[in-house]
Amino acid sequence: MTDTWECAYCGLTREPRTREHLFPTALHQRLQKANKASHVFWLRRLGKDIKGEPSLKDVCRRCNNGFMSDLDAYICREFDDQFSVIRQRYEKVTFTYDFHRLKRWLLKMAYNSARIHLAPDTFALKALLPYTRGENDRLGRSVRLFLQLSYPAPIPAAERVRLGSEDEVPEIWEPRLNRVGISEVAIAGMGRKLIRHVALQSYTFMLAYSKPTDGAAANKEFAYEFLKRAPGAVEIKASQMQVSTIGDGANSWDQFRQSRVNALVD
Ligand SMILES: [Zn+2]
Repeated sequence: MTDTWECAYCGLTREPRTREHLFPTALHQRLQKANKASHVFWLRRLGKDIKGEPSLKDVCRRCNNGFMSDLDAYICREFDDQFSVIRQRYEKVTFTYDFHRLKRWLLKMAYNSARIHLAPDTFALKALLPYTRGENDRLGRSVRLFLQLSYPAPIPAAERVRLGSEDEVPEIWEPRLNRVGISEVAIAGMGRKLIRHVALQSYTFMLAYSKPTDGAAANKEFAYEFLKRAPGAVEIKASQMQVSTIGDGANSWDQFRQSRVNALVD
């Protein structure tokens, strides 16, 4: 029997293939550990969601054990140092980063999610693969990276009643949403742009693609307009190693509810 397939990252066809979930195992374990003590009621559902996520079977062992596992190791270190801390509202947070490793890991997550869900930005993420693999830093310039913090927020009383018994549903919902999503932003005169989101606890990273024809001035203009619409968001830049912002971005309960509208409809 011939098994015809090619690796989604390197295109090779003769390497052994691997199988894994969207959230790498080492990170998934950290998330479970970090979130164990709270939100018992919700975590049961979150656990189901993660198990229900289809696994990827189109990555070769060389890619998986090579650049991908380096990127995963980097993000696990950042998780231990930074993402594991739930940020409070109005807290001043300085986020330190290794720009290319961070952005490449986010693009890997986006590409994996895009293939699972047949998302409209799959082609853009495919075109960025030499950057994601760590072979062409220049190519990554067509993607801008932003960070927005989510803050703990009370769950309105009426919703708490609807959701379950009092001891199950927390009064304050903390940002413990971990997901990869996609949205669209429309800016007058600039058209529509797809935005990729990767949320890790309090930290939501957003990736904005630009077309090769957009030019530096248009990209700068877009960043300016985008930041006006995203409260508390800041751009993460290659020329720096850290960025500071105030934890006043998104209300984590609204964010959670929007991401799970279907799960919450009676
Ligand atoms: Zn490969």
